[in-house]
Amino acid sequence: MTTPRELDLTTISPTRLWVPKHVMITRAAADLPHTAEIIRRCERAGVDDIRVLSGNALTSLRGATERETYASAKNTLAVVVAPPSALKPQPIPPSADWRIDLARGCPAHCQYCYLAGSLQGPPVTRVYANIDDVLDGIRTSAGRGSVTRGTLERGDEGTTFELSCYTDPLGIESVTGSLAAAITRVGAGDFGSDVQLRFTTKFDDVGELVGLDHSGRTRIRFSVNAAEVADRFEGGTARMPARLAALRAVATAGYRVGLTIAPVMPVPGWREQYGALLDDVAAAVAGIEDLDLTAEIITHRFTPASKEVLLGWYPRTKLEMDEDLRSQKRSKFGGVKYVYPKQTMKEMREWFTEELDRRLPAARLLYWT
Ligand code: SF4
Repeated sequence: MTTPRELDLTTISPTRLWVPKHVMITRAAADLPHTAEIIRRCERAGVDDIRVLSGNALTSLRGATERETYASAKNTLAVVVAPPSALKPQPIPPSADWRIDLARGCPAHCQYCYLAGSLQGPPVTRVYANIDDVLDGIRTSAGRGSVTRGTLERGDEGTTFELSCYTDPLGIESVTGSLAAAITRVGAGDFGSDVQLRFTTKFDDVGELVGLDHSGRTRIRFSVNAAEVADRFEGGTARMPARLAALRAVATAGYRVGLTIAPVMPVPGWREQYGALLDDVAAAVAGIEDLDLTAEIITHRFTPASKEVLLGWYPRTKLEMDEDLRSQKRSKFGGVKYVYPKQTMKEMREWFTEELDRRLPAARLLYWT
């Protein structure tokens, strides 16, 4: 079991900060107030190449090879205006009532990335400059929803808004400030008192967030995994002890917190590895007053489209994506995803349910999938 010795709380300096090499600002985004904040943050981070484009199309995203295109895209932040189609909150069970997007794309390099297959083209991170329009979705959807709002199990969360469906918002926060803006406005009650933001992250840059007036209306979840999975497959993210130190820091600052244990994989010795992870989390949250800790557990899955994209990005990956070892699951729209076979799922589910209860009784399991 890890002791808090590894959780250095004397400093909450991030161990992993993304600084883009290139920042492209579209014409339509150029004069918006949030763009000025993004430019200020990028300049502070030392970005030299900040360009305002003459139009609204992102140009020169492709390199000579797929490798170059990937590398250049992952080093680029595009500041764009979210189109009206991206502004309408969408239901997002089982996580939250609604999804709203502060950005699309992520600079990290997880070999199983959830975004593969759902975002088109080179993996540039696009941050939305019209943040007021994005946040207006909270106003129009507050009081509606069926995942948390009005339910017996999660009704206390109010109407919930998930911010991390298409990005890791903390991973880009130091150069965008979008999270701080959202947390502050929701904390100030701009959208009423019965709404809650939530996001999940693999980063640890929480120094700014701990000082915000959040009013307990944001739940920060850390994506955590067994050491073998995280060390092998989660490139460009904060290491696990750093994420747990950040978890402790934000929980101590009064945020509601959570674990996204994902993607769970039955790697050799998975019981011991995930057991050690749960023990590390227990050590990280020990002694925090009024701790509000949830857990969401998501097993690894892939689709034909995500597999193709991931093998293009990470051709030498050791990630198991073998259809013959998996069960097929059909979505209501007819799409196929590959999940672990029934017996493996049953064993893992039983183990996690029991061990979460035993090792981390403070955590409330929201769902397993
Ligand atoms: S942190 Fe999340 S969004 Fe970013 S690369 Fe990893 S899995 Fe993808």
